[in-house]
Amino acid sequence: MTDIHKFGGASVRDAQAIRRVAEILQQHSDQKAARLLVVSAMAKTTNALEEIAQAGFAGKTEESFGMLNRLRSWHEAVVEELFAERPKEKQSLLAELNDLFVEAEWLLEEEPPQNYDFFYDQLIPLGELLSTRILAAWLKTEGLPVVWLDARDFIRTDDSFREAHILWEETISRCRQQLTPLLKENKIPLTQGFIGSTSDNYNSTLGREGSDYTAAVLAYALDARCVHIWKDVPGVLTADPRIFENPPRLDRLSYREAIEMTYYGAQVLHPKTIKPLQNKNIPLEVRSFLQPERAGSLIQNEAEETYPPIISIKRQQALLQISTRDFSFVAEQHISLLFQHIARLHLRVNLMQNSAISFSLCLSDQDGKIERLVEEIQELFKVQVQRHLELINLRHARPETREEVLKNRLVLLEQRLGNTVQLVVKKLEKVKYKN
Ligand code: ADP
Ligand code: ASP
Ligand code: MG
Repeated sequence: MTDIHKFGGASVRDAQAIRRVAEILQQHSDQKAARLLVVSAMAKTTNALEEIAQAGFAGKTEESFGMLNRLRSWHEAVVEELFAERPKEKQSLLAELNDLFVEAEWLLEEEPPQNYDFFYDQLIPLGELLSTRILAAWLKTEGLPVVWLDARDFIRTDDSFREAHILWEETISRCRQQLTPLLKENKIPLTQGFIGSTSDNYNSTLGREGSDYTAAVLAYALDARCVHIWKDVPGVLTADPRIFENPPRLDRLSYREAIEMTYYGAQVLHPKTIKPLQNKNIPLEVRSFLQPERAGSLIQNEAEETYPPIISIKRQQALLQISTRDFSFVAEQHISLLFQHIARLHLRVNLMQNSAISFSLCLSDQDGKIERLVEEIQELFKVQVQRHLELINLRHARPETREEVLKNRLVLLEQRLGNTVQLVVKKLEKVKYKN
C-alpha cells in the first residue's frame, strides 16, 4: 500500500518550510503504507523561470543570465542556511545544483529554437529539479530513507509542450518498474511534480500548477491508497481566501464538486487532478502544512450532500459576441467552423450561449490568442470583444450570496443550470464624483 504526499511551492518556499516537511513526514509515518513524495519548485521559482525563458527566447542573453544568477543565489542561500553545520553535504549539494545551472546556461547561450513552447519546456523543469535536490538532501540528513528520482524517467508525455498529455500505458509500466521495488523496500521515492519527457527524451511540462496532477497520475499508476496534498490553507474552502474573508472549510466533498469548482477557478488544486483519482476511487486529502495535526478536506466518492454556497472566480476572461454578417441564422456549419479555429488555437471555452443570429463565447484570454481568433474569423462574422472580465461560478448559491458577490460588478451574461449560476461580469472601478 502506498500513500502519496505532495508538497507544493509554498511548503518548500524556504529553509524553515523545508525543515517543516521533515517534521511532517516524521510525524506521519504509518507502518502499513509506503510513501512517495511529489514536490514542486520553491515558491515563485517557476514565475522567475518564465521571465528567464522569455528573455532567452527574445535573444536577451545577458538579461536572462542576470535573472538566472539571482535564482541561483536564492537557492544557494537556502542551502547555506540548511546545511550550515554540515559542510560535506553542503558542498556536494551545491555541486549538484551547479550542474543544473550550467545546463540552463547552455540552453540560454544557444540560438533559441523556432517554437517557444518547446524552448520553455526545456528550461522550466529546472525549478523542480533544484527544489527536489535540496529537499532530498535535507530529508536524508534527517534520517529519512529518501531516494531522489527524475520524474522524466517515468512520466511519459506527448509533445504538446507546456500542456503535455500523459502517455498512460508507458507511464504506468515505467512507474511500476522503477517505483514499486523501492516502495517494497520501504524506501521513500522523492520526485518532481509538473515535469515529464517525450518519447524523444525532450522535457515536457503538464501545465502551470501541474504538480497536483503528477501526484494523481502516480497514484493511479501505483494504485495508491490515498493522496495527501499539503497546502498553506486548512483544506478546500468555499471561496478563495485571498478574495473573501474567512470562507468556511469543506470537511468532505465529492469528486464531482471538486472538479467543478477547480475547473472554474478555485486555484487550490489543479483541475486535472481529480479524474485519475475518481477513476480508481482513490481519496484525496487537502491539508495544512501549518497545522499538520489537523485533518484536512477529504475528497472522495460522496453521496451528493447539501453543500454551503461555493464560489469560484476565473479571471482573465473575454466575451466574444459573434454574429453572422448577412442576418442568417447561426447554424451548425457556423458553429463547427468556429470550433475548428478555437481547437487549433487551443483556446478554452468556459461558457457559451446562442441567439438567432449571434453566438456568445466566454474564453480564457491568454497569450494573444483572442486577437488571433478574431483575425481569423472576422471575414465571415461580425465580432465584438470585451476583455478583462471575470467568470463567476456559484454552486449551491442562495440569493444573498449572489447579491454579495455581485456588489461592484456588472453582469454581462448569466446562465443557470440546476443550482449552479454562472455569470460573466465586469469588475467596476469606483467612479469619481464630479460636480
Ligand atoms: P501550492 O503551489 O503550494 O501547492 P497553491 O498556491 O497553488 O499551492 O494553492 C493554494 C492556494 O490556493 C491557497 O494559498 C489559497 O490562497 C488559494 N485558493 C484559491 N481558492 C481556494 C479555495 N477554494 N480553497 C482553498 N484555497 C484556495
Ligand atoms: N512549479 C509549477 C508551477 O508553479 C508546478 C506547480 O507548482 O504545481 O506552475
Ligand atoms: Mg502552486
